[in-house]
Amino acid sequence: MLRFTKEFTLQEPIPEEGIAKALEVLQSGRLHRYNAHGTEPTFTDQLEERFAAYMGKPWCLACASCGSALHLALRSAGVRRGDKVLCNAYTLAPVPGAIHHAEAEPVLVEINEDTTMDCADLERKAQASGARFLLLSHMRGHISDMDKVLEICAKYHLTLIEDCAHTMGARWKGVLSGSFGKAACFSTQTYKHMNSGEGGLLVSDDPELMARAIIYSGSYMLYGMHRSRPPQEVFDQIRLETPNYSCRMDNLRAALLLPQLADLDRQCARWNTLYAAMENGLRALPGVRLLHRDPHETFVGSSIQFSLPDLDSQAIQTFLKLAAERGVDIKWFGNQKPVGFTSDYTTWHYMPSIPDLPQTRRVLATLCDMRLPLTFTADDCTLICAILGEVLAELPRS
Ligand SMILES: *Cc1c(COP(=O)(O)O)cnc(C)c1O
Repeated sequence: MLRFTKEFTLQEPIPEEGIAKALEVLQSGRLHRYNAHGTEPTFTDQLEERFAAYMGKPWCLACASCGSALHLALRSAGVRRGDKVLCNAYTLAPVPGAIHHAEAEPVLVEINEDTTMDCADLERKAQASGARFLLLSHMRGHISDMDKVLEICAKYHLTLIEDCAHTMGARWKGVLSGSFGKAACFSTQTYKHMNSGEGGLLVSDDPELMARAIIYSGSYMLYGMHRSRPPQEVFDQIRLETPNYSCRMDNLRAALLLPQLADLDRQCARWNTLYAAMENGLRALPGVRLLHRDPHETFVGSSIQFSLPDLDSQAIQTFLKLAAERGVDIKWFGNQKPVGFTSDYTTWHYMPSIPDLPQTRRVLATLCDMRLPLTFTADDCTLICAILGEVLAELPRS
């Protein structure tokens, strides 16, 4: 019996340069982003300026997490209590959580077979709900048909906010994910494309949205210290009407992220090499169906999803158990019980109502998910696929 012994949750170490910068912060004691030395830019300032430049946006705000950045983006874009926010039903819990945090109501939209947003359902729901906002989550790095999404946003006057937690460095028709909405949010949580433990980055080219986000994030009256920000006049108009939600990033995390940002595109290419190896191996397995990927999408393969369309939920649970016994850790989006990081929209009981989304439920029922940490090699992918082949062959046939 083959066995895999590496951990699916093991990331690479923080680069030496990040550790050196972090030590510098620790030795200085200047961890708080506003604890600057004279007018010298802090690591948080540097990170914001460099990420904005990477994204081709005028401004970036570093936050405590992507979930908090999403909350700030929604509020700053004008979401008010009771507003409806369209959102794909297949996403991670912090996304509906951010909508709830903004006192708004999610209107969940069906997904396609390839897990991207079903634009026909988006249009129906935009029309029926009268929502003015769309929070589009590029869940697990799958980018929806952005031409259609933008067309619907224009037609129904929807303000688009992008959740790019899994698309940092990814592109649609050559344009970076996060360039399409009025604001976009990224995660630097350990399992995303840069690792500072926790962290989020918000980008926008809308001056008022950005000024509000900076004040909401907890800038007190120190927003003038930000280097990546709209002009002072924009703040003057809104500074007293914008509460402080205290969810800043600190210099220690920014120190860890600076060298990772410089290396981001190379890391994305490494993920895609792993992804290709895993995809090739999975493609050869009977009963495994890979998701279609739109040729316009340049994704970052930091995880891989596949479907087991011939198996019922009992058989899938056996598959997961046998795989786990051989060291292969697979997640399943069809699980009726929320497990670990994964929860299904039907378990978000705090929503005012839980819609019936038969297409989404059907797609998720057989959908599996595997992390591809950069500590894996192409040979690891080959071994994992061999193990999954063994497991599939052992499954009792009904
Ligand atoms: C991880 C993730 C988030 C939230 O990121 P945090 O930084 O952990 O708050 C949001 N959306 C998606 C799709 C994610 O995978």
